[in-house]
Amino acid sequence: MEFKKCTNCDDWHFDNEACSPAYIVTQCDTGISTKVRGVSHWHAARFYGIKTWHYIENSHALVGQKMTVDVMDERGESERYILSVEFCANKVEQDKTIPI
Ligand SMILES: [Zn+2]
Repeated sequence: MEFKKCTNCDDWHFDNEACSPAYIVTQCDTGISTKVRGVSHWHAARFYGIKTWHYIENSHALVGQKMTVDVMDERGESERYILSVEFCANKVEQDKTIPI
């Protein structure tokens, strides 16, 4: 059992694991479709957002980034999501002086 980049789906998973299902993510603004693998519509939508925004290093450029996407699974079932940077990974400032 080896954790590696799969030559079939281009994703990282164990070599004895099945590839995650493919989803077609379409940006509603541009109509551009991208194939994304994930375990659910939501997961695929979120992963698409991360892939789209991860190269932005200027935090000001990231603020307020939003896009609407349609996520379609292999059976043709479609769900719509609004992606925002804030939902992708919203860091919470913790006061570590207060014991939990
Ligand atoms: Zn795979």
